[in-house]
Amino acid sequence: MRILITNDDGIYSPGIAALAKIASRFGEVRVVAPDVEQSSMGHAVTHSRPLSYKTSPVSFEGINAYRVNGTPADCVALGTHLWSDTDVVLSGINMGPNLGNSMWHSGTLAAAKQAVLLGIKGIALSTPVGNTEPDFDRLAPYVERTLEMLLPVNELTLFNVNFPEEPKEIVWTRQSVRLYDGTIVPTTDPLNRKLYWFTVKPLEEAEEGTDRWAVERGNVSITPLRLDLTDEAQLESFKTMHPLK
Ligand code: MN
Repeated sequence: MRILITNDDGIYSPGIAALAKIASRFGEVRVVAPDVEQSSMGHAVTHSRPLSYKTSPVSFEGINAYRVNGTPADCVALGTHLWSDTDVVLSGINMGPNLGNSMWHSGTLAAAKQAVLLGIKGIALSTPVGNTEPDFDRLAPYVERTLEMLLPVNELTLFNVNFPEEPKEIVWTRQSVRLYDGTIVPTTDPLNRKLYWFTVKPLEEAEEGTDRWAVERGNVSITPLRLDLTDEAQLESFKTMHPLK
């Protein structure tokens, strides 16, 4: 199995090194990741300038690794172009959760989504970060168990996986859609000029059975996602309300 690894935290992130190491137990691994951090870039693609890649300045213990001057989605497009028989794209392990409405701006998930758009299975993996870096050795058996389950899946599926700090069980979940605070918090710079932080935090309790709910309870959350955003119920209702040709 040929496994392409990317992320949105950039080639220097300890999360991508941990993922590449675990994934190498399952097949032939190649790392193609952004040269600088691209978190919260969502599914941005670079179309107004060309892309290039260079050998990674950090070692991945014998794994071929490259850095790209582009976004996570660019890395997947370029990586699968250069390595055209890629079987699966793994994105992460992101330093920060990608739960609920965070999926809308996640670069980690966008990379896995780009794989599915190209007809290749995509799996995004994330974990929260506190004051210290995540303990990837503690997560490793859970990452391995997740990959054992998801890598043999034949269907073209997009998976969003989130690991709590200290995992207990692995559970199947759906996306939490409860309200998020996407508001601006003002602050100032050392010269007293105005600056603004865009904050993202949940406003409501997580719904049972959702990704947020699972991770809050110390469980690994796996959510299968689809790319079709059509609201079928609304489509039917508007067709009835405003019949068009
Ligand atoms: Mn990130």
